[in-house]
Amino acid sequence: MSMTLRWKRVILKLSGEALAGGAAMGIDPDVVGRIADDIVAAHALGAEIGVVIGGGNLFRGAWLQKQGTDRVVGDHMGMLATVMNALAMREALAARGVKASALSGLAIPEVVDSFTQRDARERLASDRIVLFPGGIGCPFFTTDTTAALRAAELGADAVLKATNVDGVYTADPKTDPTATRYDRVSYEEAIARNLKVMDTAAFAIARDNRVPIIVFSADEPGALVDILKGEGRGTVVAS
Ligand code: UDP
Repeated sequence: MSMTLRWKRVILKLSGEALAGGAAMGIDPDVVGRIADDIVAAHALGAEIGVVIGGGNLFRGAWLQKQGTDRVVGDHMGMLATVMNALAMREALAARGVKASALSGLAIPEVVDSFTQRDARERLASDRIVLFPGGIGCPFFTTDTTAALRAAELGADAVLKATNVDGVYTADPKTDPTATRYDRVSYEEAIARNLKVMDTAAFAIARDNRVPIIVFSADEPGALVDILKGEGRGTVVAS
């Protein structure tokens, strides 16, 4: 089924933590399955979906620095963590009968195909859900930046940034009861006010390439479908 969608070609950004469910760390297969169901439902509407998953449920580069180890080694480990998450999601998607591929920004040829813009475009056009693990393949970057970059490279209509809050707030709504939610906020304001929903490099790539970022809560099943239809609750970060 194909219908008129608010956002047709999207890069969905999931944090690594989303895959851990209630646990502090790790990959919860039931949670991966639940998220895969949402992605399959969104794909069935006719959306072209690229997926970037973080690695924070398994490893973050900054953790090694605490013991005095070079940040770069930690970032390599963090990028490897994103590959593990993406492979888990690719298999969950495939188990649901959809065609899914992974194209990694970090070359590990025995494990996963490497990202090229051409291959990614071809696979999206042939009705595949395409995962983009391995970050951009460079230390000192994040998977938020990866999502913004892949969106720019692939001409995506938007980055859909799934979080556990329903948008961007003036302050942390969990600790500040006066915090209010933006329906829309400019890239400049998001950067200037240091709204920590994405890092500055990600906002800058999105701004320079005019890719809107939709921040929404993926906690409720079906939230992704609602956002694609333009019906869901979230904050649009745009010019
Ligand atoms: N990372 C990196 N380069 C990239 C993307 C990610 O070095 O282009 C590393 C970095 O160490 C980061 C880790 O991978 O801490 C996991 O990514 P991220 O923190 O973005 O995951 P999330 O917070 O979304 O779970």
